[in-house]
Amino acid sequence: MEHNEQIRIIDLFDTTLRDGEQAPGCSMNLQEKVKVARRLERLGVSVIEAGFPASSAGDLEAVRTVAGIVRDCTVAGLCRSLEKDIDAAREALSKAASPRLHVFLATSPIHMEYKLKMTPDAVVERAVSAVKYAKRFCADVEFSAEDASRSDPDFVCRVFAAVIDAGATVVNIPDTTGYAMPAEFAGLVRYIREHTPESGRARISMHCHNDLGLAVANSLAAVEAGADQVECTVNGIGERAGNASLEEIVMGMRVRADFLRADTRVDATQIYAASRLVSQVTGVNVPPNKAIVGENAFAHEAGIHQHGVLANRATYEIMTPESIGIPKNRMVLGKHSGRHAFEDRLNELGLYLEGPALDEAFARFKGLADKKKTVSDRDIEALVMDAGSPAVETYKLDRWVVNCGSSLSSTCTIRLLCNDAEYYEQVAVGHGPIDAAFKAVNRIIGKEPELEHYELKAVTGGEDAQGETWVRIAWEGRLWNGRGLSTDVVESSIKAYIAAINNFTRPPPGKAV
Ligand code: MN
Repeated sequence: MEHNEQIRIIDLFDTTLRDGEQAPGCSMNLQEKVKVARRLERLGVSVIEAGFPASSAGDLEAVRTVAGIVRDCTVAGLCRSLEKDIDAAREALSKAASPRLHVFLATSPIHMEYKLKMTPDAVVERAVSAVKYAKRFCADVEFSAEDASRSDPDFVCRVFAAVIDAGATVVNIPDTTGYAMPAEFAGLVRYIREHTPESGRARISMHCHNDLGLAVANSLAAVEAGADQVECTVNGIGERAGNASLEEIVMGMRVRADFLRADTRVDATQIYAASRLVSQVTGVNVPPNKAIVGENAFAHEAGIHQHGVLANRATYEIMTPESIGIPKNRMVLGKHSGRHAFEDRLNELGLYLEGPALDEAFARFKGLADKKKTVSDRDIEALVMDAGSPAVETYKLDRWVVNCGSSLSSTCTIRLLCNDAEYYEQVAVGHGPIDAAFKAVNRIIGKEPELEHYELKAVTGGEDAQGETWVRIAWEGRLWNGRGLSTDVVESSIKAYIAAINNFTRPPPGKAV
């Protein structure tokens, strides 16, 4: 092993807000994207891909907002190799401290023939003209050869040589369909480096999907083969089976720097908070056995393992929970705790609030402390998620009453406050209290969205635990998430349902592109 070789610093390009957000049921609203972007900046990623500005007015607005806030990372916007896409992205990135235009075009025979209906020569020409156009507005231009892993390697080399000559600063090798095997993918990266002399003037990147469960393995193999940038998402969310997971890539390099001779600049102690935030804003749970951030990732169940860990943690642990910022679920605060103690605890948990959002979270904390004897870290995380939530809430829950039992249908009467102006009250009958409540809400809004997903869980153990409800509704071909929190499970369900409805009734920001 080349022990004397220096540790290389790999750029982490996070696409949670673009590829991740594109996944079914993972859509985020503007406020949620801003929260995630701030969290990624604190985590210390090199690049935040904030969206695909030409794809919708909402995406353009989100990229513009994130670009205006983030100072310590490059902010990228995705564009097809079209002038109108590049125009939308450069406009969206105009306030970025460090903008990057990310242009892509497919290079595989199947994509060129059936999707693009272009010859290889025309693809080279289009890629070059798009990169040249992007370069007029932005010094930092990334070019992605979509479906590179199923492309002719020599053709990828030809395209990369041409776009680097045209000014591309980063060339990306996507395994768009999650088809590659680690040794093969490493071979491709090595082949491209060795057969593209121009690659010395650009950084080599890769973007791996997880269709065969190999996204992280392929990414780390590519790093070993000399790639300079890894594209990934928090919790591995993304199209289909998802992208390479940020936390696994970061910790893979950190724990095995001895082997990979590579690391990132990421502050790993922010990983857990980032994972929780993305899970909470998307409503997509992290499986308990997920590497690094799953609930069981550091749990030792077998007696023989417990015995070993008690004697010396290193017997069964290759990293510590503290290294990724997992808080211990201590019972810390109660009704007598003051604002300072609350704020200190927030900061220890990697959560930072100020101004009205802090006031609101503290007020919620006091309300909860009146109902629960002790407020745990998990309770606080859940509360903070609610603070500073959507500025525009078309509907707010005012009052509700449910009548339910074993022999008759349930009924729910509900009163909502609409646009902070008018109250609407309706009653409905249903199969159980939740169904009755949702139907009563439907009567008020005059729509019947389809309930795609409903999930209720206790935030902590104990009889006085808060119930956290997630709902996903389908309306006009799109999915909308909502989350509700209350010590009463019916109330948390109603709040979640209304939150989902508020997400789709909110007018899209900005004007159409
Ligand atoms: Mn992708």
